[in-house]
Amino acid sequence: MSNTSHPNPLAKARIAVLGYGSQGRAHALNLRDSGLDVVIGLRPNGPTWHKAKADGFNVVEPGEAVKGADLVAVLTPDMVQPTLYKESIEPNIKPGAALLFAHGFNVHFGQIVPRADIDVILVAPKGPGALVRTEYERGRGVPCIWAVHQDVTGHAEATTKGYADGIGGGRAMIIKTDFKEETETDLFGEQAVLCGGASELVIAGFETLTEAGYQPEIAYYEVMHELKLIVDLFYEGGLTKMLQFVSETAQYGDYVSGPRVIDAGVKARMKDVLRDIQDGTFAKNWTEEYKAGLPNYQKLKQADLDHPIEKVGAKLRAQMPWLQPVSAETTAAPMKKAG
Ligand code: NAD
Ligand code: MG
Repeated sequence: MSNTSHPNPLAKARIAVLGYGSQGRAHALNLRDSGLDVVIGLRPNGPTWHKAKADGFNVVEPGEAVKGADLVAVLTPDMVQPTLYKESIEPNIKPGAALLFAHGFNVHFGQIVPRADIDVILVAPKGPGALVRTEYERGRGVPCIWAVHQDVTGHAEATTKGYADGIGGGRAMIIKTDFKEETETDLFGEQAVLCGGASELVIAGFETLTEAGYQPEIAYYEVMHELKLIVDLFYEGGLTKMLQFVSETAQYGDYVSGPRVIDAGVKARMKDVLRDIQDGTFAKNWTEEYKAGLPNYQKLKQADLDHPIEKVGAKLRAQMPWLQPVSAETTAAPMKKAG
């Protein structure tokens, strides 16, 4: 079950996995293949109920899954977790059990205040669920970060590492963090660089070219399509590999023009974004927006979906038969995690 010969501390434990989406399915399958006892908690006939059943799991309502579980992994979307906690977890989780998260948002920002008689832990794989599963199947694992927020049993750390082992993270690397660091850096990454930063950079580049009279098709290839090449090089070998694989002309342009675009003003505004995350402003705004039924979220999302780059992109991607369609399930959730 792990790269060590020690038995997993969860060997005799019952694990309830609540949610069967990107992370939930991968964790559940890996834990089961590691020989651990897994039950799935979902809303009856919800979107992933039948999938979990088809994968051969015992699938019950969340409250039922929590009853008697030694570890409860909360792998539903972050915004539904506070209600799920109040209604299904808090009344049912047994004293001394462990409550596990893959993102610290609700605990760190006080949206969930866990009962005082349980362990509260975190294991966050640094990759999407599909990779967590395929790497496990190859006998490897995706590195995980882990944290202990509350340790009432005295063995919360061992439990956390046992879970990381069970999903395959122990075969790769695990890094200790805390709920504050995981939550704040995760939010910052997706806002400033990964989702927010990268998409605005692409859109600004596309608009600059098309407003200057260049064809949208050509602009699309240059500023969106080819970004994948660069990101793959970053992923495989950092800046070093990217610089090895692009031309000298591209490198020179990078050195002289990159800092003109991403200048000290960008970094100053990144610090503003980070401050809003740290002081809870972002969490408060997002929670209020969610409770109000996502009015601004829907408007802003629609503006992205209606941008001209999406029209031309759809047309061009239809001519790229090698592209895999992204499943509806992975695009349905209100906020996708970047990694
Ligand atoms: P997801 O949207 O892919 O799946 C959510 C699952 O929860 C689905 O099975 C859905 O049917 C179920 N669900 C929704 N509402 C529910 C409810 N009220 N009761 C019970 N089940 C409900 O979610 P995800 O992206 O796997 O995210 C799960 C957690 O993992 C989040 O805390 C997220 O921040 C974290 N995380 C995600 C990733 C990632 O790659 N997606 C990476 C690291 C951490
Ligand atoms: Mg992330």
